[in-house]
Amino acid sequence: MTDSSFEKMGLIRPLLRALEENNYKAPTPIQSQAIPHILEGRDMFGCAQTGTGKTAAFALPILQFLDELNARRTPKAPLALVLAPTRELAEQINKSFRAYGRYMKIRVSVAYGGVGIVPQARALAAGVDVLVATPGRLLDLINQRMVTLDNIRVLTLDEADRMLDMGFINDIKKIIAKIPEERQTLFFSATFTGEAGRLANGLLNDPVRVQVSPQSSTVDRINQKVMFVDQHNKEALLHLLLEDESVSRALVFTRTKHRANKLVMKLTKDKVSAEAIHGNKSQPARLRALAAFSSGRVKVLVATDVASRGIDVKDVSHVINFEMPGDAESYVHRIGRTARAGQSGIAISLCDVAEHSLLRDIERSTKMSLDVHTDHPYHVERTPYRGPKSGPSGYKKPNGGGGAFRRGGAGNARFTRRKRPESRMAG
Ligand code: AMP
Repeated sequence: MTDSSFEKMGLIRPLLRALEENNYKAPTPIQSQAIPHILEGRDMFGCAQTGTGKTAAFALPILQFLDELNARRTPKAPLALVLAPTRELAEQINKSFRAYGRYMKIRVSVAYGGVGIVPQARALAAGVDVLVATPGRLLDLINQRMVTLDNIRVLTLDEADRMLDMGFINDIKKIIAKIPEERQTLFFSATFTGEAGRLANGLLNDPVRVQVSPQSSTVDRINQKVMFVDQHNKEALLHLLLEDESVSRALVFTRTKHRANKLVMKLTKDKVSAEAIHGNKSQPARLRALAAFSSGRVKVLVATDVASRGIDVKDVSHVINFEMPGDAESYVHRIGRTARAGQSGIAISLCDVAEHSLLRDIERSTKMSLDVHTDHPYHVERTPYRGPKSGPSGYKKPNGGGGAFRRGGAGNARFTRRKRPESRMAG
C-alpha cells in the first residue's frame, strides 16, 4: 500500500495508483515539502538535486493541475513546460511524467537536440499537455513555428544552475519572454545564490522556498573509498575490481571521451561487457547504451561527467572513478549515481600520484576523508618519495623540490580546472 501521506497531500486517485505501482511507499522530504504548496498554485524555489525525488515533487502536482484544468488540447500549444539542461535529464523527466500520469489522459512530449526535429514537431502538432525540452531545441521549434508557448500555465526550470553553467541564459530569457506572465513558475537549482538566485528573483512571484540537503543523506549511504595506484596499473586494478561478484552494475567515470572509448575497447577485449556514453555519441547510441546498462545486458557503463547528468539507473552497485573528477561537485554528482532511492552503494576512486591534489581538494570541499583501501596488489603509498633523501619522513611539499607531487607536475597540468569540457552538448 502507498503510504497515506501521499493521500493526505490531496493527490488524486490515478496518481496514487501509479505511485503504488512504482512502489513509492512514502514521500521523500522534497516531495512532502513541495507538493502541498505547488498544489496550491504557489511559485517555488526548490534547492534540491537529482536523487532526492525532485522530479515527482513537481511532476505530480503539475499532472494534478492538468487533470483539474481539463482543458481541450490545442495543437502545438502545450500547457506545461519543463526546461532541463541535458537530453538525458529531459528523457528522464519525460519518463517520470509518463509513469506518474499512466492512469490519466495526459500527453507528454520531449524535445532535445542531436536527433531529428520532425518527429518532435509532429508530436507537438498532434497536441500535447506537457512538453519537456532542452533550451536550444525548444528555441528552434519556436522559431520554426512548430510550437507556441502562448498556452503555458506552468513553467518548470529543472537544474537551473546547471543550465546557466552551460551558457543557456540567453536562450532561457528568450523562452521566458514568450510565456504568459499569468503562470505558475517552479524553479529548481542546487543553490539559492549566484546567477541562479538572480534569475529566480526576477522570475518568481512570492515563491515558497524549500530546501533539502541530499548530499549528506545520499552520500551517507555510500561506502566511499580510494585506492592509490600508478596510472599504468589502473586498467589492471579496474579489471580486478570488476571481477568481484558484488559488482552487479558498475558506472565507471573517465575525464575524457577518448579515455572512455579506449577503456571500453580494453574491457570488451577482456570479455567484460561495456558501453561508453559521452558527448560525441549520437543520441540514439546513448539511449541504446543506457538501455543496455539498465536492463543488465551490459555490466559496465563508462561515462564522462556531462554525459552522466540525469543518468538514473536503479541498482548501480558501484561507481568507479577511473580518473578523479576535477572538482568536488562532480565528485558528489558522480558517486550519487549509486545509492539511488534509499539504497546503498559503493564508490571507489582510483587515484594516481598526479591526482593527489584533486583528491585533497575534494576531501577539503566535502569535509570528508575517504577511506584508503590498501588491500590490493597495485597499492602505492600516497606520497612516495622518489627524489634524493632529504629527511626521515620523505615527504616534500609540492614546490619543495623532488617529491612525488613534483614528479606529477606534468600530469597535473592535464587536470587544471577546465570547466566542463563538453558543455553545451545539449539542446
Ligand atoms: P529524482 O531525484 O527525481 O531523479 O529521483 C531519484 C530516484 O528516486 C528515482 O529513481 C525515482 O524513481 C525515485 N523516487 C522518487 N520519489 C520516490 C519515492 N517517494 N519513493 C521511492 N522512490 C522514489
